[in-house]
Amino acid sequence: MPRGITEPDSLGRFGPYGGMFVPETLMSPLQELASEYARIRRDAGFHRELNYYLRNFVGRPTPLYHAQRLSKEIGAKVYLKREDLCHTGAHKINNSMGQVLLARRMGKHRVIAETGAGQHGVATATVAAMFGLECVIYMGAVDMERQALNVSRMRRLGATVVPVTAGQQTLKEAISEAMRDWVTNVRTTHYILGSALGAHPYPMMVRDFQSVIGREARRQILAAERRLPTHIIACVGGGSNSIGIFYPFIKDTKVRLIGVEAGGEAIKPGRHAARFAGGHVGILQGTKTYVLQDADGQIQLTHSVSAGLDYAAVGPEHALLRDLKRAEYHHISDADAIRGVNTLCRLEGILPALESAHAVAYALKSKRQFKPRDIVIINLSGRGDKDVQQMEAWDAAHTQSGGKGA
Ligand SMILES: *Cc1c(COP(=O)(O)O)cnc(C)c1O
Repeated sequence: MPRGITEPDSLGRFGPYGGMFVPETLMSPLQELASEYARIRRDAGFHRELNYYLRNFVGRPTPLYHAQRLSKEIGAKVYLKREDLCHTGAHKINNSMGQVLLARRMGKHRVIAETGAGQHGVATATVAAMFGLECVIYMGAVDMERQALNVSRMRRLGATVVPVTAGQQTLKEAISEAMRDWVTNVRTTHYILGSALGAHPYPMMVRDFQSVIGREARRQILAAERRLPTHIIACVGGGSNSIGIFYPFIKDTKVRLIGVEAGGEAIKPGRHAARFAGGHVGILQGTKTYVLQDADGQIQLTHSVSAGLDYAAVGPEHALLRDLKRAEYHHISDADAIRGVNTLCRLEGILPALESAHAVAYALKSKRQFKPRDIVIINLSGRGDKDVQQMEAWDAAHTQSGGKGA
């Protein structure tokens, strides 16, 4: 399969998915952004500048670590791509850095962003501080409570954090609020969307900025093993860390690409965020993709123990990869994700984010499928410091299994 198979057309359509489903007022800022991005995408000077900051500020390349005790547990050779070691603790900053450099070239001195778990907000507040830009972060009031640590990090970094109290008071409402701000202030402002979601050019642009993960992993595994991995596993919220590690392997059809969604408490309306398991094709926040919605097209409530996976739509490129059978998608429950955290802590001395723990848990749960010669790369999208309160609360509510690990 050629690498270009999932390239979007000029309207940002990935096959039947993606596109630009926005009100008229957003069309011209999106078109300006798309043409500006098309220009810098071919600009060697831009890539030199981006690479400089990725290396010297973000801390790239991140290690590809052979997890020996986890390998033994799973029965295959397991490597962890250590995005948790990026500055600010997750892969999000790869994208924030790319977009903030783009914003500067577009002459924008104010950046805004939405955030769910707070990682994208922290990454954006960080790069904004570094370049001296004004920064406003929209965050659902419920998420602000769940992720208090990240709220205080953002404020300390000089960002204004605006609580969003509409609807479910989580990520979806925060995105709507950020879009509203952007329309009003587009002359001075760039909207740094945090995942491979929304209207064109965001899904393509965010994927491109996150593809550094897969490019490094490819180089690193070839250096270590002299062959490609047999499996790559990543959690899928909006889909940016997963598409980032998948993309440079898309043409390597022997490499199985596995995305893991949030199965929550049960695959029943309102109790999970597994769009491919419980969703249908629809439109949400500018893009056509799999969406959790009812028969009338009303967006359903979602649930996951991990705020970063708790969103009703999935990035459109994943929908196409799934149709093409180039990637497969599974889901992992809250309880298994917590077990994944505990197992990785105890076997490897690494506290993963609850989001990333979904990928670890999938490898553990499906270990019977692996053969000893298999090489499995798990994308460890972030570290778990932000989630310790959530984990304590889980243990308290599930005292029987709490703390016992997998
Ligand atoms: C935000 C986040 C995710 C989910 O977002 P994607 O765009 O699907 O990558 C996963 N892991 C961590 C650590 C995050 O912060």
